[in-house]
Amino acid sequence: MSQFDKALGAAAQAAETFAESLGSRAVWPRATYDEMLKRLGVVLQADPMAPEDVVAELAELAEPGLSATGSGRFFGYVIGGAQPAALAADWLTSTWDQNAALVGVSPAASAVEMVAARWLLDLLDLPRESSVGFVTGATMANFTCLAAARHQILARAGFDVERIGLAGCPQIRVLVGADRHDSVDLAVRYLGLGADAVQLVSSDDEGRIEVDALRRKLAESSAPTIVCLQAGEVHTGAFDPFEPAIQAAHQAGAWVHVDGAFGLWARAGQTTRWLTAGLEAADSWCTDCHKTLNVPYDSGLAIVRSSAAHHAAFAVRSDYLMTGSTPEPLDVVPEISRRARGFAVWAALRALGRRGVAELVDRLHSHARRMAAGIAQIEDAEVLNDVVFTQVMASFADPEVSAEVGRRILASGAAVVTAASWRGRAVQRISVSNWATTEADVDATVEAMAGVAARLARPAGRL
Ligand SMILES: *Cc1c(COP(=O)(O)O)cnc(C)c1O
Repeated sequence: MSQFDKALGAAAQAAETFAESLGSRAVWPRATYDEMLKRLGVVLQADPMAPEDVVAELAELAEPGLSATGSGRFFGYVIGGAQPAALAADWLTSTWDQNAALVGVSPAASAVEMVAARWLLDLLDLPRESSVGFVTGATMANFTCLAAARHQILARAGFDVERIGLAGCPQIRVLVGADRHDSVDLAVRYLGLGADAVQLVSSDDEGRIEVDALRRKLAESSAPTIVCLQAGEVHTGAFDPFEPAIQAAHQAGAWVHVDGAFGLWARAGQTTRWLTAGLEAADSWCTDCHKTLNVPYDSGLAIVRSSAAHHAAFAVRSDYLMTGSTPEPLDVVPEISRRARGFAVWAALRALGRRGVAELVDRLHSHARRMAAGIAQIEDAEVLNDVVFTQVMASFADPEVSAEVGRRILASGAAVVTAASWRGRAVQRISVSNWATTEADVDATVEAMAGVAARLARPAGRL
């Protein structure tokens, strides 16, 4: 056997063992960070080691410190699993080790991105002329889209920001709903606009931007403006009222960006599509394939209607890169060298087909509703949000119970739900984002929550 054979064989074996364990292993890691530092912190020896031994050792050492994010009972944050076809395509992506920057270096990597992008624009019913950049995730996708926005609104005001820099340009303001994701603020900071450029517009009980408040803010100033809307709030799953919000923003000359990290996929589901009505009128959209579509990390998309604005922000020309006349992948993302992310996205879509994507989205939504109905039956428990998509937010009458339920469930290894606070209240967030989740997983999680809550309500001494 060659060195590749042995190393890849060891990896395949370890990967299979891990994947097979997902149904039964503790969902939360069993070892702490300090314990993992000790386990992995072996003395770096002087001499080389056989690749297959390194892989086997790594798999064994890392094991107790891994989260079972691929388990059907992982409902923390907003984390998808990995569908088999996408996972296997991702292995190939590493094996092929293509540099996805340039068409000439890897026609396969560039073409697969182009085709996957077309499929996605079609499935998500977004303007077919949009240009699409494959980035690490929604944070970089927000950044990428907002860079195109910054170019466009300053160009409209007569400033070439790419040439003269921000110091010579008028101050931009970025209007966001009070419950936007923090990655939008981060993108604004990366862009040099300054955190103070972000102005909050009030939002309702579900976290949706209030359109009247947006209209008032828009009327306050004629500064170049970007409006960031949201498809899928991380606690409630709520969607902004796109139609009136986009209309108001466009009337005021603003660029509209939609953060749809997980919520953009609602557009592909039959039962959830209505939530996104009007969103297609925006100027840019970001989403993650590593959440709802269940592609392995890292996989995000920056979608910009104006390919010219997108290119103006990122295009690179350099003598040694041998760029041609075809659009180059490096022209629409912040990086030059990068992973060929299109293969796994292509494989995920091909494996599901159109109907499979719709069924996946509808199923995640229906599991979330089942979870909410189950939790509502638990004594002293309350579901606080309108479960329109994949997010459920629950709390218990006693705030200490609310905070403790999640911790005990994590410790038990039965499931993962994560703690947060909403309008000053301790809550547990549940995000149904994993393709592998079954009704039995949902029911087992409700049962685990009910059991923990009952034990907390009746401490041992009082039983
Ligand atoms: C997850 C998420 C992000 C950030 O995405 P990353 O992939 O973690 O970079 C941004 N916005 C929303 C609404 C999200 O759910």
